[in-house]
Amino acid sequence: MHILISGASVAGPVLAYWLDRYGFEVTVVERAPTLRKTGGHAVDLFRPAMQIVTKMGLLDAVRGKVTGTETLVIRRQGHKPLSLDLGKLYTAVSDDHVEIMRDDLSEIFYDATRDNVEYVFADSIVAISDNGEVTFEHAPGRRFDVVVGADGLHSNVRGLTFGPETGFSTWIGAYLSVISMANYLNLNGVLETIAEVGRMVGVYGAAHMADARAVFLFRTPEPLEYHYRDVPRQKQLLREHFADMGWEVPRLLAELDDTPAFYFDSITQLRLDTWSRGRVTLVGDAGYCPGPAVGGSTSLAVVGAYILAGELSAHAPDHSAAFAAYEREIGDYVKRSRTFAISAAKKVVPARPLDLWTVVGAARLVNALPGSVSRAIAKLNNRSIRLHDTISLKDYRPKETTGS
Ligand SMILES: Cc1cc2nc3c(=O)[nH]c(=O)nc-3n(C[C@H](O)[C@H](O)[C@H](O)COP(=O)(O)OP(=O)(O)OC[C@H]3O[C@@H](n4cnc5c(N)ncnc54)[C@H](O)[C@@H]3O)c2cc1C
Repeated sequence: MHILISGASVAGPVLAYWLDRYGFEVTVVERAPTLRKTGGHAVDLFRPAMQIVTKMGLLDAVRGKVTGTETLVIRRQGHKPLSLDLGKLYTAVSDDHVEIMRDDLSEIFYDATRDNVEYVFADSIVAISDNGEVTFEHAPGRRFDVVVGADGLHSNVRGLTFGPETGFSTWIGAYLSVISMANYLNLNGVLETIAEVGRMVGVYGAAHMADARAVFLFRTPEPLEYHYRDVPRQKQLLREHFADMGWEVPRLLAELDDTPAFYFDSITQLRLDTWSRGRVTLVGDAGYCPGPAVGGSTSLAVVGAYILAGELSAHAPDHSAAFAAYEREIGDYVKRSRTFAISAAKKVVPARPLDLWTVVGAARLVNALPGSVSRAIAKLNNRSIRLHDTISLKDYRPKETTGS
């Protein structure tokens, strides 16, 4: 069977890795001209994703590129800065967690697959027919047995198969922006933040990164009006929402003029009842993004890719049975990730003074307790705070009959 994957970030290369291991022929098409993009952001891998990384033999490569952010500093008006041990906070959430820049992670996954998988950069799918004929923007058309959209929150494959995004996306009340800039605060191992009701700014660097990243998060009562390609308007919105904030924020806003990489988007959650139709299915953010930066979506993307590959192998050549099994296996985790993300968004950018006070108080408590105690308390609440550790992975065995 020949499988086409659209998107070479996290879900795409992980899926490609396992499909190749199971004997499928795999092609990945990526819209970007090269893998490494400027900018990007830190992402999280929790225990199940780390188990998959280990099965892929990539544990050392991943551990070699972690951001190493160990301290979280929270500033609030009228309070002394609070310094928290991030390791302790993460221990409460997961037994095995790493933070890594998304582009470092995708490079590791790409390097692990590039010799056996066909990658086509700077191209995109234009049409997919019912019998698997695929038309590309540039490359000649080809036929595939299965097409998988791993092309992110604003997925092209989802648009072609299920229609416009507005039908499935729900704004969860907040906006997110990330810029790249010189690491003028010399940050290494520290996430410096300032938090107020409805808005938060954070800055971090890492030993192996030449630059730093500033993250802006804010809440609005109603959705904002802007075009997704109108960068000057997006920068203006940021300036308006953070204009009167103290600490380093005026300098960070000044960086908006020269930043080599700028990201701005609403925090949107996808809700599709099914993410498979005909020969097409979706994986990672393309199918079930619970919300960028709030729902552990990178771990979900890695786990989703592993399960999809396993079920395709187990059911080959019956892709319909494989898609049904994939959705069954991951459906509950997806639903709980949505709930988790809505609650996390409220905690990261609290809407009321009481919420801010509660969040800081809880973080302070976890920080004060020995790791074993905070972990034990968190385990009492396993289905929410320790959500990502609660999915157990099947051990899929390669089948010998899946080659083309
Ligand atoms: C600002 C920000 C902060 C985040 N913070 C966190 C965090 O703290 N923790 C966390 O776990 N997650 C975080 N995330 C989410 C995380 O980045 C995603 O969940 C994860 O990258 C999902 O991987 P993916 O492979 O499904 O999709 P993506 O990483 O979005 O990759 C999609 C790929 O598809 C490609 N593509 C797009 N369109 C096409 C097309 N037409 N044809 C071919 N290719 C195409 C893109 O170029 C990209 O390479 C954050 C996201 C953002 C935006």
